Amino acid sequence: MLNHMPRILVDLVEDSESRKAPCPVCDGIGYVALDTIGYTCIECDSAGRVRVPGDAHARRWLFEILGLIGPRKARTAVAEYQTVANHMARSAENI
Ligand SMILES: [Zn+2]
Repeated sequence: MLNHMPRILVDLVEDSESRKAPCPVCDGIGYVALDTIGYTCIECDSAGRVRVPGDAHARRWLFEILGLIGPRKARTAVAEYQTVANHMARSAENI
């Protein structure tokens, strides 16, 4: 299983990345036809492609793995609080 981890992590990063996709309003054409008149698509500004955010679940997993959110972040916050509290207690003893 561990042999597959690098590939799984690469897949996770790729799934979390934003990408360009055909515009859902104009189907990638760049304009919308109405009564035989073509109007510039305001969704994609006639580019035909729009930015699609990466998969939210993949992003959440990635942020948890990196320790930016989730239980690891909470443990870090508690450890930082204890360090500051210990420092303040030592400082109070020296007064
Ligand atoms: Zn469009």
